[in-house]
Amino acid sequence: MAEQISIGEFTVTTLRDGVSHLPPSAYPGANFDDYPDLLDDSGTYAIRLGAHLVQGPSGTFLIDAGAGDFALPFPADLAAANGLTSPPRDMARAGALPDALAGAGVDPADITMIFVTHLHLDHIGWLMKDGRPFFPNATVIYGAEDWAELVDGVNVDDPARAIMLAADEAGILRTYGGLATGELPMGLDVVPVPGHTPGHVMITLQSGEDEIWFVGDLIEHPGQLTDRNIHFMTDVDRAAATRARADLFAHAQRDSIVIAAAHLEDPTFRLITADFRWADATN
Ligand SMILES: [Zn+2]
Repeated sequence: MAEQISIGEFTVTTLRDGVSHLPPSAYPGANFDDYPDLLDDSGTYAIRLGAHLVQGPSGTFLIDAGAGDFALPFPADLAAANGLTSPPRDMARAGALPDALAGAGVDPADITMIFVTHLHLDHIGWLMKDGRPFFPNATVIYGAEDWAELVDGVNVDDPARAIMLAADEAGILRTYGGLATGELPMGLDVVPVPGHTPGHVMITLQSGEDEIWFVGDLIEHPGQLTDRNIHFMTDVDRAAATRARADLFAHAQRDSIVIAAAHLEDPTFRLITADFRWADATN
């Protein structure tokens, strides 16, 4: 499967950090009988954890920052609730992002800006490593509306909270709302799309005739293209997310915009056809 796509003068590369195995109950409203290819032998949907690397005339950037170096055992109660008789050992396992970056010929010090779609752990995992910024020259930009809910509003031992507090302490954080005109690199723009989280944003990149939208977790299941009843378990505002998706799909289809969702595979870079189906944007 294609890991790279050209967008005008830019190259966008999928960086793999790991895999998460999610049970059907993570997708309220989805009937997986309609999507037989999504579930593997364990009865779970394996999604990619990672980030996107953007390289072009205005710099070298990341969209999101992977999940971090960790493994999360598959909870027995979740397996039971989903009737999984042989669940995967881990619900999530990650840690490959540094190797993926090196494989793309990029050093962590080369990254100057990280555009975070939202503040869930699987999108900020590599911001800090051993108490220091993993990307020593990068400014991290996030949606301020996420802070109250996902940093202040969670348990003190929450790992995502710890990362954001340490990143704040290190002085590497900015908010999208705090950027002045002209601070975004040429070709990039930010569009608030609340719903999955309050401060969730989509990053757009346009160069020449080409455009790609990094939609983060606004799209979690391929069936959401045509079925507005499919949601994700952690969506804070399902109605807002559904509305944002409908607008996004219509616009992307009309203007042949490439969609890169954080977790979708096969294909990772998607176009919407005239008859409203997914197609591989790299074909
Ligand atoms: Zn995610």
